[in-house]
Amino acid sequence: MHIGRVVTAEGLRWAVLEGDRVFALRGDPFQGAVERGEPLGPAGAAIWRAPCVPSKIVAVGRNYIAHAREQNADVPPEPLIFLKPPSAVIGPGEPIRLPPQSQQVEHEAELAVVIGRRGHRIPEDRAWEYILGVTCGNDVTARDLQRRDGQWTRSKGFDTFCPLGPWIVTHLSPQEIADLEILCRVNGEVRQRGRVREMVFSIPALIAYISAIMTLEPGDVILTGTPAGVGPLRPGDWVEVEIPGVGVLGNPVVPAE
Ligand code: MG
Repeated sequence: MHIGRVVTAEGLRWAVLEGDRVFALRGDPFQGAVERGEPLGPAGAAIWRAPCVPSKIVAVGRNYIAHAREQNADVPPEPLIFLKPPSAVIGPGEPIRLPPQSQQVEHEAELAVVIGRRGHRIPEDRAWEYILGVTCGNDVTARDLQRRDGQWTRSKGFDTFCPLGPWIVTHLSPQEIADLEILCRVNGEVRQRGRVREMVFSIPALIAYISAIMTLEPGDVILTGTPAGVGPLRPGDWVEVEIPGVGVLGNPVVPAE
């Protein structure tokens, strides 16, 4: 299924995409609801928002060897994790606002794993049971501030720095997820291209590692790292993260107000 949240006259609603139609979803997918309800209209007219409301976004640094190299950094011996605040989340089509504090904001196209069940100390061989599905994510980063600060809270935490969506794809097998390709385009030009199977630490390894530190809640997001090719975002750009078989997450880039 393709599960997300769409704008309706009654406010945001859980919805499911089927072919070129969108239907309401009865209940909350994080409470186990997967029953299709009434039609909401054609897919082309739907306005999707971020497909979950995470209590936290746990992101993984340098999880692709080629990206670590382009940053002149080593691949860490254990997953290098950091948090992005929930206040950074935006949905498809919503603007990424360049903050006045930075002169170098960059895109990082990533596979986003959405947790479906609460879990603590999840064994690696049971990790897939805790995943609702996957979506596209953009770990927008103020690269100059990341270098200057020595830790990443400011550079990764600005409002609008965590586009997610357009929906959560729940039907892919672990093998199909490993085969996914991740692309980033800016104004139609391909900037990043990588495959999930090139990750240094696998999705189950990340879930085991992270959940041994902090309880993962339904709706939490793990941003699994970015492949090589990160680059600048400028006012007026249109940045897209595409994961063929999952979806396309597109956002305009606007200057700070
Ligand atoms: Mg990243």
